[in-house]
Amino acid sequence: MPEIFDEIVVGLGAMGSATVYQLAQRGRSVLGLEQFSPAHDKGSSHGSSRIIRQAYYEDPSYVPIVLRAYELWERLQADTGSDLLCLTGGLMIGPPESEVVSGSIRSTQTYGLPHEILNAGDIRRRFSPFTPQNEEIALYEAKAGFLRPEECIRQHLAQASKNGAQLHFEEPVVSWTAQVSGDGVTVTTQRGTYHARHLILSSGPWAPEILAALNLPIAVYRRIMFWFDPAGGIAPFLPEHFPIYLWEPKGEGSFYGFPASDGPKGGVKVALHTGNEKCTPDSIDRNIRKDDESAMRAAIANRIPSLNGTVVDARTCMYTMTPDEHFIIDAHPDYPQISIATGFSGHGFKFSSVVGEILADLAINGRTDHDISLFSRRRFQTARA
Ligand SMILES: Cc1cc2nc3c(=O)[nH]c(=O)nc-3n(C[C@H](O)[C@H](O)[C@H](O)COP(=O)(O)OP(=O)(O)OC[C@H]3O[C@@H](n4cnc5c(N)ncnc54)[C@H](O)[C@@H]3O)c2cc1C
Repeated sequence: MPEIFDEIVVGLGAMGSATVYQLAQRGRSVLGLEQFSPAHDKGSSHGSSRIIRQAYYEDPSYVPIVLRAYELWERLQADTGSDLLCLTGGLMIGPPESEVVSGSIRSTQTYGLPHEILNAGDIRRRFSPFTPQNEEIALYEAKAGFLRPEECIRQHLAQASKNGAQLHFEEPVVSWTAQVSGDGVTVTTQRGTYHARHLILSSGPWAPEILAALNLPIAVYRRIMFWFDPAGGIAPFLPEHFPIYLWEPKGEGSFYGFPASDGPKGGVKVALHTGNEKCTPDSIDRNIRKDDESAMRAAIANRIPSLNGTVVDARTCMYTMTPDEHFIIDAHPDYPQISIATGFSGHGFKFSSVVGEILADLAINGRTDHDISLFSRRRFQTARA
């Protein structure tokens, strides 16, 4: 008789690593399959830092789950003694009517989150590298900061292994089948065939391929992360006094950045949050082009002029976008024994700890106490209901 796992997780990036961790902690027999190495740099979860924040401008219903994500990150950090989460404070900057500012204020009002509203003069005085327009304001929250994504993934994987999960790397999944609704799955890789009661597909920007039959409206976009050696010196950008920020200038795409931290080559990270260049993980242009750099410099030149120095590093990354930029976490329409987690739309990492908890709940109980109604695939009329 072949071994039948309780769960197989395909893709051990941000979401998959948290899921195998949660499942193994609950005593499940779990197999994780990943086509590359642990915490690799070919998907969506590399680049040394990811913003975490509570006053969620995208929708207030993210607030309870992000608060749970904080708890889980803090627990993982305490259990492993690793450095995962750095709270620096965060600024959401833009005109008062911008989504980033007005949406963040809405979330603080809905959930009573502590925050301050700063006018342009306050921003300049407290955070000297920023030179906002007079009509721009910011919501400041002390509990924002950043996670170290590669270390988060490594620790989730290490703890999962410690609790008995079998994790296979460099083993691409070629296909999966589920013959009968509710009755297990078979997964075929380049090395073997495996059976399980439940399958979790957390394959990031590869999801459009592996879920092609579902016709979900998800699309993958190329994004660039830049690290600058600040023209005005590094001191004003140190995390002791420089926050993470998200800036939505009037009529332009938004961008975001971090204090000086420890990217592979040092420097201060900044990136555009918007852009229209579609790609696939195979077709993405991983070279950094002149137009990438000029678009980045155009965003910061008049807003954070002292940052606009030499580029010390730049890397591509991928966003897997849904039309409304909310996630998809749901059961497969034909096979309740398959869960899908995709479409994290460039803001999923901070949630990965709690997404692991949700996916483990769905696999084991078929339901979760977290409110995930916003993430239903049924909201897309074009997708199969
Ligand atoms: C530049 C950039 C900046 C971002 N900034 C933030 C931020 O500040 N805050 C935030 O919260 N979020 C941010 N995000 C978004 C966040 O990083 C993503 O939403 C999240 O990492 C997605 O995780 P994932 O597990 O879906 O994908 P991934 O981490 O890419 O994992 C998918 C995994 O599946 C594997 N896989 C795929 N197909 C197969 C197969 N057939 N067989 C085996 N393995 C397979 C892949 O190799 C990969 O390891 C950012 C993303 C980018 C690109």
